[in-house]
Amino acid sequence: MELNELLKEYDKIYESGQIPITQCRACGYKFHMPRTKCPKCGSANLTVIGYGEGTIYSYTIIERGLPARTIVVIVDFDGAKVKANYVGELNALRIGARVRVVRKDGNIYFTNY
Ligand SMILES: [Zn+2]
Repeated sequence: MELNELLKEYDKIYESGQIPITQCRACGYKFHMPRTKCPKCGSANLTVIGYGEGTIYSYTIIERGLPARTIVVIVDFDGAKVKANYVGELNALRIGARVRVVRKDGNIYFTNY
């Protein structure tokens, strides 16, 4: 896949409110950053998949005095990791929790609802 073709596919998936993940058809490796070759095996035989849900892999809470709390999560999409801000409920925030992708003002966030 050519890079501009890949980026168009990424934009289309972002606009639909999902996270684009590239999967290598040769070795199965999945990754988020757009690349024309698999970083694991070098194959150019790639496909892009849109994900609407993932699982919290890790998170951190940045306190700067209320209400300026920022929660950053790393979400796992079948092995590919994506970092974004979490806008869901604090009591639902835990490793292993399912989260949904939301798009607001052109940005991607994760939430529990
Ligand atoms: Zn590969």
